[in-house]
Amino acid sequence: MSRFRNVPQGPPIEVFALNKAFLDDPYEPKVNLGAGAYRDEKGQPWVLPVVRKTERLMAQDDFLNHEYLPVLGLDTFSSAATALLLGEDSHVFSKGLAFGVQVLSGTGALRMAAEFLSKQLKYNTFYVSDPTWENHNLVFTNAGFKDARKYRYWDPKTRGIDFEGMIEDLKSAPEDSVIILHACAHNPTGCDPTQEQWKKIAEVMEERKLFPMFDSAYQGFASGDIEKDAWAVRYFVDKGFELLCAQSFAKNFGLYNERVGNLTFVANCKEVAVAVKSQVTLSVRGMYSNPPNHGARIVATILNNPGLFQEWKDCIKIMSRRIHSMRKELRDRLEKLGTPGSWEHITSQIGMFSYTGLNAKQSEHMIECFHVYMLKSGRINMCGLNPENVDYVAKAIYDTIN
Ligand code: PMP
Repeated sequence: MSRFRNVPQGPPIEVFALNKAFLDDPYEPKVNLGAGAYRDEKGQPWVLPVVRKTERLMAQDDFLNHEYLPVLGLDTFSSAATALLLGEDSHVFSKGLAFGVQVLSGTGALRMAAEFLSKQLKYNTFYVSDPTWENHNLVFTNAGFKDARKYRYWDPKTRGIDFEGMIEDLKSAPEDSVIILHACAHNPTGCDPTQEQWKKIAEVMEERKLFPMFDSAYQGFASGDIEKDAWAVRYFVDKGFELLCAQSFAKNFGLYNERVGNLTFVANCKEVAVAVKSQVTLSVRGMYSNPPNHGARIVATILNNPGLFQEWKDCIKIMSRRIHSMRKELRDRLEKLGTPGSWEHITSQIGMFSYTGLNAKQSEHMIECFHVYMLKSGRINMCGLNPENVDYVAKAIYDTIN
């Protein structure tokens, strides 16, 4: 008899199960709009040319070795990542009030943040947008948070943000609640607050003494402009908030499986920042001891070299422009077909994802009848579209709705 016999079967993780179902599906044509990864116009994964070039340089460097990195990772990486987020001339950075820690991609950054907030600050309540990237809940509850709550975000009627609902919910949140905010390119809705709305969010959070936990998984990838995509985080920092921000380099560098992430801490006192860093060091040491080198070294090399940095900025423009043009193409086709309803949200949403407005039944119909794989929530990855399949997908949506 097994010791493990009472372990219950866990539920499948939708996005991975969907990906497997797509790969196993022998039918053609089929389209994968599920998993959140960039695809080029031929539907293939894209290794950014600047990443390839950097890897070649690294392969020829006889001084690189496989020694352990420090517990908090490569300093040249975490400093450059924090500067990318807060801006080169950020006063908190130069005054020693902010620092970065190299962690295991965006998810690892969130996990480390949740661990710190739960164990060190004893925070117990967190809020996510309704809806949010589904993993926020698992990460925060696994790290010890007992009270998971939602603030209103998506309004199905306007297919935009329910801003009044959001503000109302923040106003009634208990002091010291951790509010998870998507820095840009909200996943899954593709709807970001305007700058005026961010100002109001900051005002309420200050009034109610709420803690901002930013999740920045798409800097540069969203608008094509790294400064623009960091605006909200920088605004909160300028307003004097202490905060954490999880940064992922999976999408904007195309380094999904290298697990390159940074967790930025912003405190309002230098001595406090030093103590915080010492506790994070112990936390990492007790979890995985130290992070991997390869991906972080690629990012550090690119961010610290003006020529490569420019090449990278050109690459994120290529990706964001392609997404933008697929949004336009899809909307045009849906409108030309006379698909019922408004499709304006497809082009006004930003980033990799679009919340189409299709319900669970319609999304399942898209899979079963047309082999177009998408999440039950109606979320599609715009990168899965290309000039060859956009007609097919538009027609599938049209037929599903009619
Ligand atoms: N946060 C959000 C909002 C995301 O969309 C993602 C990627 N899907 C992540 C965090 C983390 O991704 P990763 O761990 O691959 O960096």
